[in-house]
Amino acid sequence: PTFLSVANFATVLRVRVPELLEKLQELGFENITNEHILDAETAELVAEEYGFEVNRDDNLGADLFPAPLPTDDKKLKSRSPVVTIMGHVDHGKTTILDFLRKSSIVKGEFGGITQHIGAFVVQTPVSKKKITFLDTPGHAAFLKMRERGANITDIIILVVAAEDSVKPQTLEAIKHAKASGVPVVVAINKCDKEEANPDKVVADLSSNGIDVEDYGGDTPVVRISAKTGMGMKELEETIVTIAELLELKTEEKGVVEGWVLESQVKKGLGNVASFLVKKGELKPGCILVAGTTFCKVKVMKDEKNKIIKVAMPSQPIEVSGWKELPEAGDYGIQAKDESFAKKVIINREKRKRMMEEASQIEEMNQRRIKAI
Ligand code: GDP
Ligand code: MG
Repeated sequence: PTFLSVANFATVLRVRVPELLEKLQELGFENITNEHILDAETAELVAEEYGFEVNRDDNLGADLFPAPLPTDDKKLKSRSPVVTIMGHVDHGKTTILDFLRKSSIVKGEFGGITQHIGAFVVQTPVSKKKITFLDTPGHAAFLKMRERGANITDIIILVVAAEDSVKPQTLEAIKHAKASGVPVVVAINKCDKEEANPDKVVADLSSNGIDVEDYGGDTPVVRISAKTGMGMKELEETIVTIAELLELKTEEKGVVEGWVLESQVKKGLGNVASFLVKKGELKPGCILVAGTTFCKVKVMKDEKNKIIKVAMPSQPIEVSGWKELPEAGDYGIQAKDESFAKKVIINREKRKRMMEEASQIEEMNQRRIKAI
């Protein structure tokens, strides 16, 4: 049975209820009545006390794919940075991303900005380096990634409007940045406006814990206008400079790992997910496990809707071939074949059920204790 009360358990063990209650007390369990629900661990312990051999499901050990997997330092190659923009609403996040997206389209290139996959790559105008920009991810996905002790982003651009300065969501973004330990570039936007007061923004940020360059700190501050394009080149080159200092590296070959950015059902393609490769080379035919679903990679497209054959680290792509939709913030890892992928998933589903059951039992017992 899923839920085992003390009374039921006594029947299973063929002992009298008062005796079992005494035994439980001996073992250190307090506040127990014959209605109390036992968790699997306690039941196992007691059964062993009575000389029963417990048949445990060993498939419930560790997650077969604890993410991320360790890297082999000898195989590391440098990779381009992944950047996220954060800041208060209306301070210009979308306008900045649109400016960068447009500037990344080569004149006359077919397709334009038709495809939206939650991320795009630009080549910087001066240094000709690549930068991957993520569309500001939802709060939930971002937190989920952080819970796994990993950061999807290497650099955060903190946008603050020059005429509005520090606002509640600016402080929220500062909190995020500090907690993740990711380096910040401050972009003071809307500097084209007459009311712009970038010096006040610098002072406000400084008094809110940002170590601004203007006052001798480490955090670069760039004055921009996403409307006129002023300072945008400088912003991109600042990111490149920081990325170089970070010496970002990854394994280019071998097992693929990466993040699910978002997922949806698309006409003619079925379940698709945008995926940011972090490690390895992703190719059609690869098996990716993410959360409790997997994908046999069918078609891969870049942000310009172009079909690509190989996706490298820091490259965002749209991947079709998912059995079910994975969730934003899921970590994907390549499995050697479908049967292993299924094994990982069955294991995760069982673990998930067990956790849910454990918390349900805890809740039921809490309610009982309160009722006593
Ligand atoms: P988000 O909420 O942070 O994504 O902000 P948006 O990008 O949607 O911008 C909010 C408003 O500010 C829009 O009306 C933009 O046109 C305007 N805006 C954004 N950047 C600039 C800028 O550099 N200068 C001026 N004058 N307006 C801007
Ligand atoms: Mg926006």
